[in-house]
Amino acid sequence: MDNKNISMDKIVNVCKTQGFVFQGSEIYGGFANTWDFGPVGVELKNNIKRAWWKRFVQEDPSTYGIDAAILMNPKVWEASGHVSSFGDPKMDCKKCKQRFRADTLIESFSNGEVAAEAMSNEELEKYIQDNHIVCPSCKGFDWTNIRKFNPMFKTTRGTLEDGADVVYLRPETCQGEYTNYLNVQRTTRAKVPFAIAQIGKSFRNEITPGNFLFRTIEFEQMELQKFCKEQESMDIYADYKSKALEFVQDLGLSKDKLRYHDHDKLAHYAKAACDIQYKFPIGWEELNGIHHRGVWDLSRHSEFSGKALDYQDPETNEKFIPNIIEYSIGADRLTLAILCEAYDEEQLENDTREVMHFHPAIAPYKVSVLPLVKKFHTEKAKEVYKMLSKEFMTSYDETGSIGKRYRRQDVIGTPYCITVDDNTINDGTVTIRDRDTMEQITLKLEDVVDYISKKIKF
Ligand code: ATP
Repeated sequence: MDNKNISMDKIVNVCKTQGFVFQGSEIYGGFANTWDFGPVGVELKNNIKRAWWKRFVQEDPSTYGIDAAILMNPKVWEASGHVSSFGDPKMDCKKCKQRFRADTLIESFSNGEVAAEAMSNEELEKYIQDNHIVCPSCKGFDWTNIRKFNPMFKTTRGTLEDGADVVYLRPETCQGEYTNYLNVQRTTRAKVPFAIAQIGKSFRNEITPGNFLFRTIEFEQMELQKFCKEQESMDIYADYKSKALEFVQDLGLSKDKLRYHDHDKLAHYAKAACDIQYKFPIGWEELNGIHHRGVWDLSRHSEFSGKALDYQDPETNEKFIPNIIEYSIGADRLTLAILCEAYDEEQLENDTREVMHFHPAIAPYKVSVLPLVKKFHTEKAKEVYKMLSKEFMTSYDETGSIGKRYRRQDVIGTPYCITVDDNTINDGTVTIRDRDTMEQITLKLEDVVDYISKKIKF
């Protein structure tokens, strides 16, 4: 089945029934734009994060990881511009009173063709009027003017709220890299170009309806900031454009559902910007961003902190503020893209099967152990489970027919099922069934770990 026919509702439903993702605070009626990852969802997302880290940190000798605090000195957000000038352009529908982000309204309307985030408020309002963009909720066409809305969550530090200092939940992780750039450079003795990478939570007071995991108020970003000389910066920018695309294709997103979207209008400090868009069931939308940020971030932090953030070239002794190339992708948004891509309803001879064709490296369980007949094969199957669970996330299922058990593993994307039967007890062999081809082969028990290890490499 072509996944373009699969709706977001279908994906939400499969996620809920199979334990990938549940509505946040569900027993209280939910909490808008929050979702909780369930037993298989957390495995999937962790595996995606590990794959990203492996590709961009482990396999790149010039990239160093950090894990910075979520709460930062509030001056960071003055330097970044989030306190004063940043703010999402929001408008209210006068008819149904719902609030929307004007730029995302335009991006959805134009199917990702118009880069609305660089438009002025006047341009946004004019575009919405000229194109008669209606309220997604009630279909009315009666908008307020745009007002800026700061997306940062504010809280207070200290026991007394009165007079306590305001602190913010970070709306982006990258500030942790900027503020630690000298620490990392000094301790690793890195020479430009080098990058600092991080995976962590960010928080944004998103009001626009979220479309499941696509837009949530707390989400994880996987991102890196590459510090470099101006002369090499455009080549590094181009390099990350291709590396970012290659990564998501290697994880299984298909070529024809991915495209670059270069921004025509840029933030005043930026030299280039590009998104990679994915064709979600809701249309073409941003999956990740690659931005050439010039010297803006480090110059601002130098100005606001009073600390020199120059890099000194060890060969020429030249001092300069490095340029920054940023590559940032949402772990939750990528998990959603992977769920949409992997899900399939396959028509078999007498049956339809629901299956998640995950790349084996990111599948929640790598293998499932199934005793053929509970009464006779449970003991041996538990032994096999014990052995395999030391190596991989392994599931165990002894209830229902083998066919039903295969189906249960198919829909959570387990790439291999091992059946334990009389042969396992008598001559130490097992049957391994492949999720995608449904073909079975016989293997010696002692070869199973090696067989699966090779298959799940990324
Ligand atoms: P958008 O235009 O969709 O709001 P953005 O351009 O503000 O995104 P960035 O600040 O560049 O996004 O963040 C980098 C990545 O983080 C995005 O490409 C996306 O994958 C992810 N992301 C951003 N906001 C959210 C959110 N509210 N929920 C889930 N993921 C998000």
